[in-house]
Amino acid sequence: MFIVLLGAPGSGKGTISKLLSEKLNIPHISTGDLFRDNLKNETPLGKTAKEYIDKGELVPDEITVKMLVQELEKSSYSGAILDGFPRTEKQAEELDNLLLANNKMVDIVINVEVPFEEIVDRIASRRNCKNCSEIYNIHYNPPKVEGICDACGGELYQREDQKPEVVNNRLEVYKNTSSRLIDYYKDNKKLYQVQAGDSANKTSSDVAEELIKYIKENFKS
Ligand code: ADP
Ligand code: ZN
Repeated sequence: MFIVLLGAPGSGKGTISKLLSEKLNIPHISTGDLFRDNLKNETPLGKTAKEYIDKGELVPDEITVKMLVQELEKSSYSGAILDGFPRTEKQAEELDNLLLANNKMVDIVINVEVPFEEIVDRIASRRNCKNCSEIYNIHYNPPKVEGICDACGGELYQREDQKPEVVNNRLEVYKNTSSRLIDYYKDNKKLYQVQAGDSANKTSSDVAEELIKYIKENFKS
């Protein structure tokens, strides 16, 4: 099964994707995490991507799609929770073609909706594990020991692109690209919209529960 998660930076889609991946036993592919792995290992891809990521801009489609293809090939296109991909209409089309060529398709698209005021707040209090990329929030989902990852004992840090100027740019990019992407999937009638965040009174695990219920009811295999 191929599940796409859409949502603004800070919407919780990364955390929700990880929970879905564990509970449904489907690999989690985050293009943001893949880029960060490449940055850490200073690969040529990482060096190219850094210019864009540091400014909060999208990495060009061609580069991003190539990276995703490699990742899907590793898992022989058996299924994935796609987190942060597609981000543009072009990427969505490429994904459809790619899956079609392997007799697969996007089965479900989830849009995680959180009000913008809340998002800015959330991003500022977010921390990531340097080692395993687990996500924490120092207010809502703190680690048991400050600064240390519960999952692997790694060191927690604040991502370079969580600085206010870069965050604003990421949100701006999101506003400019998301509605067309949502329309793309709306037309395919694959879209499930879920309200998340404090104003909806739901944690990421509440949202994940709701989604699992929906997926199990709608996609019996
Ligand atoms: P967030 O969703 O919180 O912005 P991600 O970890 O998904 O963070 O992405 C971090 C950065 O990686 C983005 O700001 C962008 O520069 C780049 N990126 C990730 N996914 C894509 C994509 N599908 N297309 C283009 N750039 C991407
Ligand atoms: Zn960790």
